[in-house]
Amino acid sequence: MSLRQIVAARTGRLVGAASRLTGFGAGEAVTGKLAHAIDPTLLSALASRVPEGFVVVMGTNGKTSTAAMLTRVLNAQRRNVVTNATGANLVGGVVGALIKHPHAEIGILEVDEAAARSIVPTLEPRVMIWTNVLRDQLDRYFETDIVIRHLENAAVSVRGSLVVNADDPGLVGAAERSGKPVVYYGLTHARDEGSALAADSANCPRCGAPLRYDARYLGHLGRYACDGCGWKRPEPDVAVEPVELRGAQRITVRVCEVDVTLQTGGLGAAYNVGATVAAARQLGIDEHATAKALEGMTAVFGRGETIGNGVLLLMKNPAGGNEGVMQVLEDGYSRILVAINDRHADGLDVSWLWDVEFERLKTTARYVVVSGDRAQDMAVRLKYAGIAVDVIEPDIKRALDLVRAEPFAFLATYTAMLDARASLKGKSERLA
Ligand SMILES: [Zn+2]
Repeated sequence: MSLRQIVAARTGRLVGAASRLTGFGAGEAVTGKLAHAIDPTLLSALASRVPEGFVVVMGTNGKTSTAAMLTRVLNAQRRNVVTNATGANLVGGVVGALIKHPHAEIGILEVDEAAARSIVPTLEPRVMIWTNVLRDQLDRYFETDIVIRHLENAAVSVRGSLVVNADDPGLVGAAERSGKPVVYYGLTHARDEGSALAADSANCPRCGAPLRYDARYLGHLGRYACDGCGWKRPEPDVAVEPVELRGAQRITVRVCEVDVTLQTGGLGAAYNVGATVAAARQLGIDEHATAKALEGMTAVFGRGETIGNGVLLLMKNPAGGNEGVMQVLEDGYSRILVAINDRHADGLDVSWLWDVEFERLKTTARYVVVSGDRAQDMAVRLKYAGIAVDVIEPDIKRALDLVRAEPFAFLATYTAMLDARASLKGKSERLA
């Protein structure tokens, strides 16, 4: 490393440490952001020191969980892994993680789609995982087409294979256009009710005709085909069968004839297992070793994680929101707290709340509190869903005090969850 790079890394570290001590967020991202500002060539110098290269995870939902799963699998193989486990997926987060783990053999990094341009070409990933592209934070990304273009551009730098969700037609189209080797994963089926959930429309990436769905799993993810040109969902190389899919805190899937039970819930978790098995294979790890490493894994932040009497469900777009609603319903929670913020990390536009079928909770909800900066909007949404709101309490701490004496489900946007977590655990952590 050059003197400037060393100074950049050291200065970043010092400030990062100070940031941790004073309680301003995770030090790693601060470290990296500053170091990168001092010397933009630092990323390249740090990346070149990781001998086995990088796996990059991209997509709307499931980045953090998938990266955590794959890291766990590699750790079980006694590999020294660098990962941005706090979800700091912009260039600062990546640089910070690399500074912190100077002896890593391999990197598992989640990368924000919009930031990929300044990160991925330097990493030249050996494997790139695409989880899904769902409607998310419209004010930030505008349209799913733009996100798909970001992914396609990122694929140019991949020197190995893409690992792609076969159930997402937009991703499959982009993967085909990339000309890279592709390994597909997908689900064999989902919940019976899946087809009824609010779904995004999707067109054939080849001829533009509306796709016909035999089954819808989550948003526009499912089993699809084009009647116009005959294009259809590719048969997954790694098929994931949800064996037991109920609630927020447990799921069993069968993948390549091996069962895996996780202490987390939802279709998202099933997909993440598929992505992990497929990516691990590319790294020379078979499905038995992967399944063994994943067995019993608990939720990462906000995916069925419990704090006190509450089960936390992160909600950041219609697909994730509907999945959360299904889990609350299956677990039969009657006490429900919904907290909606509209800060930058949540997305400033909360109109997506109208695409989440809160109506489904009508039969189970007995005590409902809404909170967060947009508590009023949430109250209006629930009123139209026919659900009586007991209390509107914008202050998250006070709202938690209202529900926490008994088991409750807690649906929340990203920053609302951070606030709640800080309040419940009595400390501030920036996790994703
Ligand atoms: Zn077509």
